[in-house]
Amino acid sequence: NLSDRLSGVFDKLRGRGALSETDVRSAMREVRVALLEADVALPVARDFVDKATEKAIGQEVLRSVTPGQMVVKIVHDQLVETLGADTSELRVDVNPPAVVMMVGLQGSGKTTTTAKLAKRLTEKQRKKVLMASLDVARPAAQEQLAVLGRQASVDTLPIIAGQQPVDIARRAVQAARLQAYDVVLLDTAGRLHVDEQLMGEMKAVAAATSPTETLLVVDSLTGQDAVNVAKGFAADVDLTGVVLTRLDGDARGGAALSMRAVTGQPIKFAGVGEGLEALEAFHPERIAGRILGMGDVVSLVERAAETIQVEDAEKLAAKMAKGKFDLDDLRTQIAQMQRMGGLGALANMLPGMKGMKGAMEKAQDTKALVHLEAMMSSMTARERARPELINAKRKIRIAKGSGTTVQEVNKLLKMHQEMSTAMKRLKKMGGLGKLAAMFG
Ligand code: GDP
Ligand code: MG
Repeated sequence: NLSDRLSGVFDKLRGRGALSETDVRSAMREVRVALLEADVALPVARDFVDKATEKAIGQEVLRSVTPGQMVVKIVHDQLVETLGADTSELRVDVNPPAVVMMVGLQGSGKTTTTAKLAKRLTEKQRKKVLMASLDVARPAAQEQLAVLGRQASVDTLPIIAGQQPVDIARRAVQAARLQAYDVVLLDTAGRLHVDEQLMGEMKAVAAATSPTETLLVVDSLTGQDAVNVAKGFAADVDLTGVVLTRLDGDARGGAALSMRAVTGQPIKFAGVGEGLEALEAFHPERIAGRILGMGDVVSLVERAAETIQVEDAEKLAAKMAKGKFDLDDLRTQIAQMQRMGGLGALANMLPGMKGMKGAMEKAQDTKALVHLEAMMSSMTARERARPELINAKRKIRIAKGSGTTVQEVNKLLKMHQEMSTAMKRLKKMGGLGKLAAMFG
């Protein structure tokens, strides 16, 4: 597996510091093989590796982590980023009825997924849903959806023999309007291959109903072929998302990466079984873990990063235990908080920190930050370590040196005072671990 391959490549490396270009390139050759083994389409794998290479070169290797492990983590993060965020919910909050059209090859799982989605929309989003089968090519297809509808307690459009797909679609939307349904799910017919008749039918249905969502249903087991299918559909209909079915049977998950790359649309759901409840929101991290087969390494690197942050927090705690929280600490804190964002919210969550809220919000203002930094730089190391030394004369010097005013210097010292007090209080309550965890 990739783990062995990478350790082979990196065994010779003992050095610390940044990842070199040669090392990254040899590691990425192995990553590429791993992607292909996970059934990622070749051009997609190539493009992906190029991007990851660019990110990895020059990256610092975390303490207690090997360069190989570091590369795996970078590749993993790139996978998650490429696969996109969790955007699983459907866009159905439009002027009703929202039309959702399901497209895909025959046997990909459209009918099953239509019923699964209907159940989900009904139960989780409290929508009134109507399903309609436009599959007139196969005799039992419309009846199949009706059966699933009864199982899921979701209404299906009454079947009228001999009606054509576009007419059924129109009738479904009209029925939905009259009977106040929120969502209409259209289960279209599929064929064994993408062909002109299939595409023509789909375009006609789309033109007649203006779907808010058009979901491509793809069988993840079809691997490399899935890419051609997706290309075919993406060229002719405006897809808004992808549903990957049979992920329960695919240990590799490579189709997900290919689908995302080829359609440019998010993967919204994953089918993980035949039952109507076997539909999950799509989780990029899980699939990224599967593709790399290296979940353990990824969590190892994450733990290493956390450890370093906890160590930093502990150093600060130790200092504070000695009653020390000087201006250098304040400087570090501000930088750390800056990275976290939303400090006002944090202050609200922690008892005893209320007093800090205003001060921290002020500190977050970028212009104020530049001033803070300038004032700190105008102080001597001794002054930063022992703020009580800063008397009126020194304040004037610091204000002049930093292009600020004595008033601003006073504000900085007051902020330090407030934070120092709040931190001591927090420590007494044993809340520092909590704070450290939040910094992580
Ligand atoms: P359609 O021709 O695209 O409408 O495909 P169907 O919905 O009729 O599904 C074809 C077969 O695949 C059925 O036997 C389904 O039960 C099965 N199926 C659909 N989705 C999944 C899934 O996520 N996992 C598994 N294991 N089977 C699925
Ligand atoms: Mg079907």
